[in-house]
Amino acid sequence: MLNIILFGPPGSGKGTQSDLIIEKFGLTHISTGNILREEVKNETELGLLAKDIMSRGELVSDEIMIGMIKNKLQELGDVKGVIFDGFPRTKPQAEALDNLLKEYNTEISVLISLEVPEDELMIRLLNRAKLEGRSDDNEDTIKNRIQEYKNKTAAVADYYEEKGKLKTIHGVGSIDEIFTQISEILS
Ligand code: AMP
Repeated sequence: MLNIILFGPPGSGKGTQSDLIIEKFGLTHISTGNILREEVKNETELGLLAKDIMSRGELVSDEIMIGMIKNKLQELGDVKGVIFDGFPRTKPQAEALDNLLKEYNTEISVLISLEVPEDELMIRLLNRAKLEGRSDDNEDTIKNRIQEYKNKTAAVADYYEEKGKLKTIHGVGSIDEIFTQISEILS
């Protein structure tokens, strides 16, 4: 199986690149942000709990997120591989993911980190706010999301680097240019 973590700060292009990777490599997408937004929309118990946390740009608890991934993996069935988008976002989530994948006799193949300067992230996210109207794409929330990334999420790249699984890509340029670099890593 080819199991990828597509990694980077909010606005680094994970969602866009995920779509292209899925199409080319036939992988299954697990986006915890998309799952949470769906829960919020459907006003489920989890959605009601997550809504305020997300609107503040903070992280939902590890316990909830790990439970969510556990359920998703159980539902998967026979797949070529998985692309994790927006998960893991903390070191405990990364450790839990590795343990869960072991139960399925598989593992993370590579973490691809999209590196984008902070001023560029801000421009992209404010622009996305206009196009998609995502409620957490406003200036204060974006600042918190970038701060959460630095404080809690960046460590996930170090964790996989120690395992020799980190590949870094300069995430500024055309969508095609960046996708070409990702494809070279995965091929
Ligand atoms: P995303 O679409 O990946 O940027 O996620 C949107 C929001 O959902 C984040 O700002 C968090 O509040 C929450 N979220 C998504 N994935 C996770 C995760 N793995 N751990 C904690 N919170 C998450």
